[in-house]
Amino acid sequence: MVADIIINTTAKRLQQTFSYIVPDGMAVHVGSRVQVPFGRRQEEGIVVAVSERNAGEYAYELKPISTVLSAQAGFQEEMIETASWISRYYLCNLADALRLFMIEKKGLEVRLYVTVGTKAPASAEDADVAAYVQAKGQVEKAALSRKFGARRVDDLLAAGVLQVEKGWKNKISDKTEKWLSFVRDDAEGLLANRRRQAALLAELKQAGSAPVSAFIGKGYSADVIRRLCGTGLAAISERNVRTRQLLPTLEQSRPLTLTDEQARAVQAVRGDTTGRTYVLHGVTGSGKTEVYMQLAEDVLRQGKQVIVLVPEIALTGQIVRQFVRRFGNDVVVMHSQLSKGERKNNWLRMLRGESHICIGARSAVFTAAQHLGLVIVDEAHDSSYKQEESPRYHAVAVAQKRAAYYCCPVILGSATPSVSDYYAALQGEYTLLELKERIHGRPLPTVTIADMRDELARGNYRVVSDAMVSLLEETLAAGQQAIILLNRRGFATFVMCRKCGYVVKCDTCDVPMVYHKQSDHLQCHYCEASKPIPTVCPACGSKYIKFFGTGTEKVEEQLGELFPSSRVVRLDQDTASRKYSGEQILERFRRHEYDILLGTQMVAKGHDFANVSAVGILSADSLLNLPAYWAGERTFQLLTQAAGRAGRGDAPGRVVMQTYAPEHYVIQCAQKQDYHAFYEQEIEFRRALQYPPFHRIIKIILTDEEEQPLWRRGNDLAASLQSWTRWEHSPVEVIGPFADIIKRIRGKYRLVILIKGKSLDDIKDYMRREPQCWASGVVIDVDPSF
Ligand code: ADP
Ligand code: ZN
Ligand code: ZN
Repeated sequence: MVADIIINTTAKRLQQTFSYIVPDGMAVHVGSRVQVPFGRRQEEGIVVAVSERNAGEYAYELKPISTVLSAQAGFQEEMIETASWISRYYLCNLADALRLFMIEKKGLEVRLYVTVGTKAPASAEDADVAAYVQAKGQVEKAALSRKFGARRVDDLLAAGVLQVEKGWKNKISDKTEKWLSFVRDDAEGLLANRRRQAALLAELKQAGSAPVSAFIGKGYSADVIRRLCGTGLAAISERNVRTRQLLPTLEQSRPLTLTDEQARAVQAVRGDTTGRTYVLHGVTGSGKTEVYMQLAEDVLRQGKQVIVLVPEIALTGQIVRQFVRRFGNDVVVMHSQLSKGERKNNWLRMLRGESHICIGARSAVFTAAQHLGLVIVDEAHDSSYKQEESPRYHAVAVAQKRAAYYCCPVILGSATPSVSDYYAALQGEYTLLELKERIHGRPLPTVTIADMRDELARGNYRVVSDAMVSLLEETLAAGQQAIILLNRRGFATFVMCRKCGYVVKCDTCDVPMVYHKQSDHLQCHYCEASKPIPTVCPACGSKYIKFFGTGTEKVEEQLGELFPSSRVVRLDQDTASRKYSGEQILERFRRHEYDILLGTQMVAKGHDFANVSAVGILSADSLLNLPAYWAGERTFQLLTQAAGRAGRGDAPGRVVMQTYAPEHYVIQCAQKQDYHAFYEQEIEFRRALQYPPFHRIIKIILTDEEEQPLWRRGNDLAASLQSWTRWEHSPVEVIGPFADIIKRIRGKYRLVILIKGKSLDDIKDYMRREPQCWASGVVIDVDPSF
């Protein structure tokens, strides 16, 4: 037998497989990790194919595999096929693509386990061995052989007194851990003069409950924790590491009676065995989640598995909660706060078919499913589905590849489908399903546009327009809640000298630093570097250092002044960076402990708050002016998503959008929440300028600490690509090199080369062979998201 093996090194050009002899008796199959002689060294490799071919059929001499490192039952053929597609399509190393499917580099080890067989033991000694195995249930074969001798064990196996089966060494853990929970609120007087306990209680109140180890990690002694429990204000309980969920125990939910539109969508997908992609275009609040869940239920009934992808930010949100309520323990949630053990347990449960639904962000698309029956991608237009480091895959493309293998449908749900997906649906490549009505016939919110040029003319210099002030006043007076979106964190967006115009920039990035008032320092949003605010201008020595621009911190301050009796909470990367705290902010807002939720795009996505009747968008055109073909699409999506948070309960929703470009088609369509009108204009613009979906793009980014050599490298690479297109008479366009929008990040200058064309397969083949594409400081981004 001969095995084809990829060598697991990081050398980028090692795409091809190498053939090795499988020595007699060596158990090797697709997915096994092995050690092989490679050059003068021993290297690790992964078996991607095993064939009955004979070593003699090869023109050169094959070497044998040295050892099996692990039988690695975790890799199925499908995964290897998908990984090779990823490496071809996204121009990355096959080993790196395969690693996307691994939960940890070592992989899983398969061992042989012995149980009692069907035949009776022939002697008293044999009966001893059988009794030992019987008592243990099952024993690892190697351990049993050590105890009773390998010969004896083999004989008993041959006689059928014992039998052997394969199993995973890595077992699901039944470990428990201690959790501390908040119990009651009336701490009055109880903790007088006990500062540590009071501090612990305050933190615990925020968290609700958390592992005791987390508090020990924060410096609380076991003694302080015990004493706090002694007061009855907190309590300790044991929880199973395996079943610990991100969410508290929730009441189970039953399937709802579908509306006609929902029923039609479910009907259209049900039973599909062609591996088709469906675009589920449903306005905000149209009940897409119920459609997902009823389709999932169908698939479960067939004993198959479902992968549900949600944007990173929605992982603690509504949709996960709903799936857990409907399907309970059959759901595993893959989120970033899992411990390594929990992650592995979840992964194993899917691999072994013990759980049937895996919900997670982008990387959950690599879930080790046995029988995939459905992939759901919620908010499929979201940019978090594109990985921004190598391998730069798009989760939707990977999902489609996997689904094609399993012949199961992919659902792309969104209120604002990507222009490319919608185009594919209209062309018949995908199938279009539409939910045009909100549930219970609730109207979509009404949107008012506030022209900020008029505000200035009227003498309103605040960030908040008069229209928005009135909307908030009325909303708060009616006891309802509001969401306010501003897609910039910090207090002031740049700091400038009024005398000479000097702007404080980051030392290593070519961007202005942002003033954060809470921490009272300047921060770079690209590398997180911070520095103090200069007291005099570093350029001219003047004292006229002033803050310009508006971020969420400043709005928070202004809202506090405008509505002193209302409770405002801010949600952005700064307030959400503490563990669980973004989720807590949303949960407390849901419980109406706050009246106004203010924040960056984190507040715009997916939430279903029944009491929110007003949404304010402070700077509707902030993305619109970026020099990128997707600026209009992103803006429309963000505005529609944000507006869609209003009026999901009984009170009708109202939205104010502040803009300096009220006549722009994107703003106009967003005002009417008219996706089709937006699509019609956008697709014509894409067609005219030959952007996706009409042309594909590859973006090559070159970086270097020195500017001169960087340009030389950029020009050389562009010239090489150009000469290929001329030689091949290829219609593919090579544009650049040009300086990236941000010229320098983390001390490295950046150049960009764009490749554009209807089909890029041929130029990819060329790039694979062109060493300049694989030099260090070169990043290749296929279908870039920006
Ligand atoms: P979307 O994801 O399309 O924005 P959701 O799935 O959040 O909308 O649904 C909006 C609300 O309507 C939710 O509160 C959901 O429970 C409810 N809902 C969905 N389908 C039905 C139905 N068939 N009957 C009654 N209520 C429904
Ligand atoms: Zn100055
Ligand atoms: Zn920086």
